[in-house]
Amino acid sequence: MTHLKLDGVTKRYSDVVAVDDMNLDIKDGEFISLIGPSGCGKSTTLETVSGLTKPTSGLIEIAGTDVTNKPPKDRDIAMVFQNIALFPHMTVRENLTFGLRLKNYKHSEIDKRVDQAADILQINGMLDRMPDELSGGQRQRVAIGRAIVMDPEVFLMDEPLANLDAKLRVHMRTELQRLQQELDVTTVYVTHDQAEAMTMSDRIAIINDGQLQQFAPPLECYNEPANLFVAGFVGSPSMRFINGQINGGSFVAPDLDMDIDIPPSVGANDGDDVVLGVRPEDVYLDSHRTTATATDVITMEVDVVQPMGDELVVYLRPEGADVAFETDLDEGDQTDTQTDQLLMTVEPTVDIETGETVDIALDRAQIHLFDNATGDALVHGLEPRVEQVSN
Ligand code: ADP
Repeated sequence: MTHLKLDGVTKRYSDVVAVDDMNLDIKDGEFISLIGPSGCGKSTTLETVSGLTKPTSGLIEIAGTDVTNKPPKDRDIAMVFQNIALFPHMTVRENLTFGLRLKNYKHSEIDKRVDQAADILQINGMLDRMPDELSGGQRQRVAIGRAIVMDPEVFLMDEPLANLDAKLRVHMRTELQRLQQELDVTTVYVTHDQAEAMTMSDRIAIINDGQLQQFAPPLECYNEPANLFVAGFVGSPSMRFINGQINGGSFVAPDLDMDIDIPPSVGANDGDDVVLGVRPEDVYLDSHRTTATATDVITMEVDVVQPMGDELVVYLRPEGADVAFETDLDEGDQTDTQTDQLLMTVEPTVDIETGETVDIALDRAQIHLFDNATGDALVHGLEPRVEQVSN
């Protein structure tokens, strides 16, 4: 059952369209993440749900009620933000009970809810401490506790873990997952951290330039990206792309010795400009893996080798190309859709060096094709090659 609905929500700031015709149907108890590059409209979308921002057009429904014109206090939501604004002069208990006291709940009900939240968050021993006597993680737990005690229809969280150090973030991620299983409250979670979104969410809404690109379970976005943007955004290191054309029933790339037969079922026509995408784990070094499920051997040159400990990430470029390609292992550059470069991951023991020429093959079942003009996906995974299958 739909519990939270965004129906054609648009938010304009003079000439900026921060959110562009957003449609989301979120089910009761579902945990969804809004994810996308900085400035894509995640926070603004969340603010229209919270009531902090009024949409220029569109409707928002919570539990079947149109709340588009209601102020935040009348929406039965609770928010957790990146900046943990606990009242510094109040104890943890007073911080937790503040919202309930404002709403004139009975003392017995307040005590019951605080005890429950403290149990769930394991902060029972800290209720009489002041916020400055807590660690960053403990403060964040209290902030979440403040939302829990309100027993809302919907939790809204805007990068709640962003200010914590990396290790604590991973720990709190697990805690939030546990919490979600326990409380089963509909949650909208904003993050720019795709690992966070992938691990915690039932579905992720991937946004670019205010527009929804795909709204699906994390693995579906990974395995069947709707378009080039999603394909390049989800996964790290990210999928790489090669520009080419359909020619004589094959994909051919002008700068690469690459000829991949495309089954007629794909529906591509000769002359179509298409983009081939493949993830690093679906590129093989050993040429003997060129079976029916792999492409013919492609010869490329090693550009950069990055040891990651458990694997090597190898950047490949067309043989003889004199440009060095950019690497993208830092988190900030997740939307790189540079073409004519492939990434390959290999065992850390493999002896491979910059400048070397290598024979590689791609796993046909993991090849994605996109329409070059629209960026939309044409197919995810090619069937085995016909001539090999008949052998
Ligand atoms: P995100 O949360 O994905 O980083 P935001 O929702 O904060 O993105 O912003 C989306 C776009 O709307 C950006 O271009 C941002 O500059 C613009 N924007 C957000 N809030 C305002 C505002 N109050 N006034 C004008 N422009 C805004």
